[in-house]
Parts: sequence; C-alpha cells; structure tokens
Amino acid sequence: MIPLTGQDMIYYLAIIAAIGLAVYFLLETSRRPKEPETETKELLKCIKCGYTIEKEYSVGDFIGLVKDKCPKCGSPLKIIAIYDVVKKTPEKTLKPPKQYT
Ligand SMILES: [Zn+2]
Repeated sequence: MIPLTGQDMIYYLAIIAAIGLAVYFLLETSRRPKEPETETKELLKCIKCGYTIEKEYSVGDFIGLVKDKCPKCGSPLKIIAIYDVVKKTPEKTLKPPKQYT
C-alpha cells in the first residue's frame, strides 16, 4: 500500500468535516423548537342577534355560561367556545399559570 499523500489527507479531512457538519446540522434541525406561547380565549355569542366577540378567558368560565352583554343589542352573551391561541408577539412577560377551578 502506498502511504497517503498530502492531497489524500486533505480529501479525507474534507470528507470527515463534511460528515461532521451534516451530523451537526441534523442535530440542530431535529432539536424541537420552543413551545409557542399561548393564551386562552373565549368566544361569546349574543343569544339574540348572533353577534360574536372574542375575549380573554377568565378563571371559572365555561362553555354555555351567560356572560356580559351584547354591545349591539344589549342581550346576554353566551360562551360558545374556549380555546388556546398562539400569541402573535412572543413577549417575555411572566403570566401566572392557567387555573381551572
Ligand atoms: Zn346582540
């Protein structure tokens, strides 16, 4: 066997470097992205005119609860949905953890 020349060494080093980079990028991309910050919203619907409004969820609210008044006709609003939405602007304000009582 002929000993490796300088050029061969560079060739092998390049392969090793390429593999190393590939592994690095694979690990980097497979790393899970940060959990998006969510906030809980509730959808209220007017029982009379059907007007819907989205509000911040408050502790104790549940689907079917009659809450607030319709800004259009003054009839009671009923919660028809409660859901989490991803915050549009990721801010680092500390919020107390969600409570379901
Ligand atoms: Zn209404």
